[in-house]
Amino acid sequence: MIQVTLIPGDGIGPEITEAVKAIFSAANVPLTWEEENAGQTTFDAVGELIPSTLIASLKKNKVALKGPITTPVGKGFKSINVQLRQMFDLYSNVRPAKTTKGIETRFENVNSVLFRENTEGLYSGLEIFDERLQIADSISRVTRVGCEKIVRAAFEFASKQGRQRVTAVHKANILKQAGALFLNVFREIAKEYPSIQADDIIIDNMCMQLVVKPEKFDVIVTTNLFGDILSDLCAGLVGGLGVVAGANIGDNMAIFEAVHGSAPDIAGKGIANPTALLRSAIMMLHHLDLKAEADRIEAALEATLVNKEECTGDLGGKASTMEFAQNIIAKL
Ligand code: NAD
Repeated sequence: MIQVTLIPGDGIGPEITEAVKAIFSAANVPLTWEEENAGQTTFDAVGELIPSTLIASLKKNKVALKGPITTPVGKGFKSINVQLRQMFDLYSNVRPAKTTKGIETRFENVNSVLFRENTEGLYSGLEIFDERLQIADSISRVTRVGCEKIVRAAFEFASKQGRQRVTAVHKANILKQAGALFLNVFREIAKEYPSIQADDIIIDNMCMQLVVKPEKFDVIVTTNLFGDILSDLCAGLVGGLGVVAGANIGDNMAIFEAVHGSAPDIAGKGIANPTALLRSAIMMLHHLDLKAEADRIEAALEATLVNKEECTGDLGGKASTMEFAQNIIAKL
């Protein structure tokens, strides 16, 4: 049995986590969950936002599945997600976006995977506020090592998965230092993968291209802030945040997570869609080399998604979170 850390999170987190646990148990996936939480509710209970027991569990298991965690806006503690990514150098944020039969969208044949640098750029945490002058500086720090790691991760993925093209997204025309460093590293590393088409595009043009012809793009690699925004844009192309997976991957640890938030507006109602967390859990199974289990659960999910009435309200159905899970289980 493989042991994995499970972080249920806040809001709808515990509800969608229960659904995923039920599906994994019905599919006899050979893993056990070690449950540890983080965030405000954990702080209220044990006085720590990221408890030492969670850190110990992550260090031991090296693989985790995480629900959404509430972050106060413009005040309060630093995002738990950002802290975990920086603490364990989870430098790749991997976000697949694929059109699914049964999920209505404006576009067909979207099948992109976005690699977002996850620890640097504008999210480095280098922020200064001069109270007297009322000037705020948020420093975007990009390093050669950081660029090399994320660009190589994107090319390695493309090469292993038989993908044809890697596109770098940047703003090197304006950001002459940080943007240029990222682009130069991309061009250097691209030479090591001659069979993969490598090109680059400026972020503003990329946004326009993605909402006109998203099916043109294959693997996409970019810096932190652009990746944060583009990954949600790509999610919107294939059905929204409730249905896409995400992973934070480093050299020694990987945390798979639902990319949507804690949805306080529907928390506790039992109507949240568990698809995003389930798809992240399926990505986790691939990471753990449990391909047969991953394929079986994915097939059951896809067979359920084509019947709207078996799904949750956001997908046009009437099922509760657990009824949706039971509908998936019935197809395993
Ligand atoms: P949100 O994703 O929580 O909600 C946006 C909208 O999408 C809401 O209407 C919500 O009901 C709906 N929604 C989200 N997930 C859904 C699901 N699984 N099924 C059905 N509907 C779903 O975004 P928000 O309201 O901007 O953020 C709420 C909190 O979540 C904030 O504190 C934010 O910081 C946090 N957050 C956490 C993460 C994370 O932990 N990875 C990511 C984004 C936001």
